[in-house]
Order: sequence, then structure tokens, then C-alpha cells
Amino acid sequence: MPPVESPTDGEKYDVVFIGGGSGGSAGSRRASLHGAKTAIIEESGKLGGTCVNVGCVPKKIMWHAADLADKLRHAVNGYHFNLPQDGPKFAWASFKPQRDAYIRFLNGIYDKNITGEGVTYYAGHAKLTSPTRIEIVPQEGKKYYIDTDKVVIATGGRPVIPSDKDIPGASLGIDSDGFFALEDQPGRVAVVGAGYIAVELAGVLNALGTETHIIARYDKVLRTFDPALQDVLLPWMQHTGINFHGNSKVVKVKGERNAPLTIHLNSGKTIEVDTLIWAIGREANTAHLGLEDVGVKLDPKGNVVVDEWQETNVKGIYSIGDAQGKALLTPVAIAAGRRLSNRLYGGEKFKNDKLDYHNIPTVVFSHPPIGTVGLTEPQAREKYGSDAVKIYQSSFRALYFSMIPVEHKEPSLFKLVVVGPEERVVGVHVIGLGSDELLQGFAVAVKMGATKREFDDTVAIHPTSAEELVTLK
Ligand code: FAD
Ligand code: NDP
Repeated sequence: MPPVESPTDGEKYDVVFIGGGSGGSAGSRRASLHGAKTAIIEESGKLGGTCVNVGCVPKKIMWHAADLADKLRHAVNGYHFNLPQDGPKFAWASFKPQRDAYIRFLNGIYDKNITGEGVTYYAGHAKLTSPTRIEIVPQEGKKYYIDTDKVVIATGGRPVIPSDKDIPGASLGIDSDGFFALEDQPGRVAVVGAGYIAVELAGVLNALGTETHIIARYDKVLRTFDPALQDVLLPWMQHTGINFHGNSKVVKVKGERNAPLTIHLNSGKTIEVDTLIWAIGREANTAHLGLEDVGVKLDPKGNVVVDEWQETNVKGIYSIGDAQGKALLTPVAIAAGRRLSNRLYGGEKFKNDKLDYHNIPTVVFSHPPIGTVGLTEPQAREKYGSDAVKIYQSSFRALYFSMIPVEHKEPSLFKLVVVGPEERVVGVHVIGLGSDELLQGFAVAVKMGATKREFDDTVAIHPTSAEELVTLK
């Protein structure tokens, strides 16, 4: 169903969600399901937000393509498949429209689900003019307003790019949104950053055959992850051909749009590429929303400040998902939105429903993938004291790689962080084939407070990589 076509001033709602991404869509549908008169406002013209349009979904599809490229090489060089020695070639230019069509299909499903659940959908830019009134500016036509008892800010975030003033030529680069708009595969790419997006995009490009550089300001990637994972991933990325420029900063970019670029680093080194991708973090979409005018507190980075119930300092105004700056993950935005609506409109049964931000599992779709939940080893030592912490760890090669020449055998490392005499498992950190899919179940165990003994009492599934986690010595 399309958005409201002839809106009138002063329509009144119980709750309005600003932003039709992961959090806004899930939260609004749940509120409506509980009987609240609910609206959602989305400015981009399509529902689904970052995850569907320029995040998790197209990224994971590209990761699958890259994974296939690796597997095709393994098929030839280990499993005796009769394919060209370097595997078939990936046709980016014809694959991209197919990927885009799938995203459009998902946009349609979001439209259907939202309106099917009884949520009214307004298209346009939302701005608060009071805690209970929202002005909507459509792309075409006159602005209008709606009224509401409660407002949920679910406006997500956007990529950060340095200004040309700070780094001359910085705007010649693109961001992750630009990556998903690329019509052709670039021959040479430099990715600046060392977090989730830098690691994932560099991994995809490298596996698909692009000459890939990472420019990082320290000598590590994924600095907030357990050190054991960092120590396995970076050398393997380098081994597979990624050029890592650590302890480096971009000081200048020279060239022209759609032409080769020269990247100047603070070390004096230069790198020639076709595409430069900035992946240095994201900032909340909280400007131009009228938040300051109605007194909603933001932190110094511009994230909406909320309490444990997702409520801001202004009664009746809430925020969920990336806009509140904590744990920028789709399932987090969804869970926060659903729980908030449960609590507000679900009656007695849900009166204390809220999202617990501890032990959130997460996966990095690197090559090989990483899965992690709970405390890293340094965090556990800091929290419980070093003497209380014990580490169980195993490094191995998955059976799949037994047939693959040694230089292509991906490493695996599985690690448990346990505390106290009862050896409660407070951290699970895995890298290697299958880590992405195996983590979810172990996250349940950590959430339930499982001990090492309980892990060991669970019969292993053989032959898998996951069985390592219940047989660690
Ligand atoms: P969003 O999904 O960003 O939605 C916000 C919506 O609000 C947008 O549609 C925007 O247009 C709209 N909006 C903003 N301002 C206004 C306004 N004033 N008026 C009206 N509408 C407005 N997470 C994972 O869990 N797994 C992954 O694999 C993963 N991969 C990612 C890969 C990339 C490249 C990126 C960038 C992110 C990835 N994420 C991943 C993170 C995930 O996409 C976000 O955490 C999630 O989308 C946040 O949901 P949200 O509802 O808070 O915001
Ligand atoms: P991250 O916070 O993960 O990483 C940002 C990186 O940029 C850090 O590694 C930081 O590196 C580096 N950095 C920051 N400022 C600068 C600077 N001025 N110059 C150079 N480097 C800089 O952000 P991303 O943009 O990668 O991703 C945003 C969020 O989206 C993630 O935190 C994650 O929550 C979510 N996401 C989730 C995914 C998933 O679930 N698989 C995939 C993609 C995104 P350092 O501090 O080490 O220098």
C-alpha cells in the first residue's frame, strides 16, 4: 500500500514512529497489533531503512558472492572440479540489477506488512514542532502536521566522511552507500577504516578479485573485538592479498571524480586506486528533527540520550535503534522497538518489557567470518579481576580445508572466557568457517548463564567446527 495520498492537518495518533527502518517498522507494527492508533513517517520514499537498502541485506548478498568465489577456487584447487583454473568470472554489472530488484521486492514487503498491520504510512521529512506535534514535509506538495500522544525517534544514522577542509579531496571518495551504488566492479580500491564495514567490504572486494587496500589509523582491525580474533583475522586478510596500511592517515586525495585517485598518507606513501571508500563510522540522523527545539537531550556525538526504557528526558518522546547510538545492529533496533511497544500498549503482561543491552551477539562477515558474544578477555579481566578469569581456546583448520592446498587453508580459532570457580561462560569468540551460523545457539547459552561444565555435558555434533566449543580443554 502506498503512503497516505491526501493528508490533512491535525490527524491524531497514539504513537508516531519517525523513520521506517528496522526499528520503526518493527515497533510501529507491534504498537498497532496491540491496538494503538499508529503512524510511521519515512522520508526516503522506501521502507526498510539502512539494513534493507544499503546495509545488512545487500552486504550479505555480496558476501555470498565473495564466498562463492573462494569456494569455486577451492572446487578447482582441492575438490577436483573441472572448472577453469582461476574459477569462473564474477559479472558485477549484471549481478547488481538483480540484487537491486531483490531489495525492491523487500521494500514492497515492508509496505505490505506496515499497512497490513494497520499502521498509517506518511512519506516525507518529519520534524517535531512540539512534543506532541510533527510537521511533515513531502518531497512534492505542501507541508502538513499530525498530532500524537507519543513519539519514537527511529531515524537511524548515516556514514561519516571527512570534510575537504580537513582532508583535501576527501569528497572524491564514496561511503558504504556509494559502494552499493557501484555499477561496475572497481579494479583497485582503498578502504579507510578498520571496523565492521571496512573489514567486510574489503573482504568482499578482495575475494572478487579487486586489488584492495585498507588504510587504518592503528596497527589492528576490529580493535573493540577480542584480541585473539584480531590476531587471526588481520594476518589472514594480508595472506589473501589485502594490502594493509596500518598506523596511517590519509592527508590528501588527488584526482577527479570517476577517474583514478592518488591517496597521500601521512607516512609520505601514495596509493593509486580507482575508488576510495570511507568506512570510518556512522553518525545519528538527529539534525533537522526539531529535537533541540523541544528540549530532547543529545550526547556530544549527536545520539539521542535515552534511559533503560528508551525514553528521552522529554516525557512521551522515545528513541530506538541507531539514533540512540548504542549497539548499531538491526536486531537490536527491532527488539528495542517491539519491547517498547509491548510495554506501552501490551497491558499488564508486558509492563516491564525492555531490551537488555548485555550479551548481544554479533557477527562480522569477514573472510573467514567472526562471531562474538559477551565479554572479551580484557573486559572480563577488568570486570572480575585477572585471577578469576580462565581462557579455553583452540586453533584448528576445519575439515573442509583438509582437501585444500596449505596456502588456502583458512584458520579457525574458538575461545571461551569463563569466570569464577563455577566457570561461568561470559564470552564466546569464534573465527573460522561456519562461525556466523553457529553463534546464535551459543548466545542463548551465555544469556542463560551456562557454565563450562554445562558446555562439556552437551554431546558434540561430529564432524563440525561447532563441536570444538563443547570439547575445549
Ligand atoms: P535505519 O534502518 O537506518 O532507519 C532509519 C530510517 O529513518 C531511514 O529509512 C531514514 O530514511 C529515516 N529517516 C531519517 N530521518 C528522518 C526524518 N527526519 N523523517 C522521516 N524519516 C527519516 N546490522 C546487523 O545487524 N547485521 C549486519 O550484517 C549489518 N550490516 C550492515 C552493513 C552496512 C554497510 C551498514 C551501513 C549497516 C549494517 N548494519 C548491520 C547495521 C544496521 O543496518 C542498522 O543497525 C539498522 O539499520 C538500524 O536500524 P534503525 O531502524 O535504527 O535505522
Ligand atoms: P565501526 O565503529 O565498526 O568502525 C569505524 C572504524 O573507523 C573504526 O575501526 C575506527 O578505527 C575507524 N575510524 C574512526 N574514525 C576514523 C578516522 N577519523 N580516520 C580513520 N579511521 C577512523 O563503524 P562502521 O562504520 O564500520 O560500522 C558502523 C556500525 O554499523 C558498526 O559499529 C556496527 O554496529 C554496524 N555494522 C554491523 C555489521 C554487522 O553486524 N555485521 C556490518 C556493518 C556495520 P580505529 O578506532 O581502530 O582507528
